[in-house]
Amino acid sequence: MQLFDELKTLGHKHVKVNKEAQQKVPTGLWISCPKCHQSFYHKDLGVYQACPSCAYGFRITARERLEWLVDDFKEMDTDLITKDPLEFPGYMDKLTKARKITNLNDSVLTGIAKINNQECALGIMDPKFIMGSLGTITGEKITRLFEEATRKNLPLVLFTASGGARMQEGIFSLMQMAKVSQAVKRHSNAGLFYLTVLTDPTTGGVTASFAMQGDIIISEPRALVGFAGKRVIEQTIHQRVPEDLQDAETVLAEGFIDAIVSRDKQKDTIAWLLEMNKKKGGRHG
Ligand SMILES: [Zn+2]
Repeated sequence: MQLFDELKTLGHKHVKVNKEAQQKVPTGLWISCPKCHQSFYHKDLGVYQACPSCAYGFRITARERLEWLVDDFKEMDTDLITKDPLEFPGYMDKLTKARKITNLNDSVLTGIAKINNQECALGIMDPKFIMGSLGTITGEKITRLFEEATRKNLPLVLFTASGGARMQEGIFSLMQMAKVSQAVKRHSNAGLFYLTVLTDPTTGGVTASFAMQGDIIISEPRALVGFAGKRVIEQTIHQRVPEDLQDAETVLAEGFIDAIVSRDKQKDTIAWLLEMNKKKGGRHG
């Protein structure tokens, strides 16, 4: 097909541009799913920005997700400012750009939400903020979210999306894995429920810590879920690994996650899990 162009708003680079066609046809009309490779009109993505063929959820900003997920939301910690502890070349420019694209101070949006009348602490990581990498402020915001949930006796729902630790912050980034994990444990010790929703991609230090510490772990269809990248694994073990090794569906089959839930069912499913958890008088309430 010659008329394809990448859909600029989604930022995907998987569709080759035909220069000649580009001059004649408006851009962004047709896109191709990076997972099932089906092609469709961009408006068919709908409000959930999901592939109509395989339900893969395209990468969206935290604020875009918030629009269809919650009935009410009170944002927290918007005043925390990311520093440049290693004076990493170009880091401040990257931060400025990421803030502009996502309208966030760092790679996670946090606050107290109502989802179908169920109150919870809610965090949404943003894959458009330096690939959702785990920086100091990301870790600090998630830690504070857990502390607020523990204080208020609330369950916590966290959407993860991350390329891993943020290399521009070195060891300060890695420390967040342990810091958040401790806050998760204190929340758990208080008998409170923690639900994680893995979105594309959930990898690296985030997978190795709080993404996999949920009492229940669900994932979006076809999301990439793993620790190291496929190429790194192959270089380490000197073997080719299956194409679908890090698909959520494989991870589910191997028992690391509990369910795969498409975006159109997430709001009801999450509210149901929160309610069931309360009714059973188990870990929460
Ligand atoms: Zn698809």
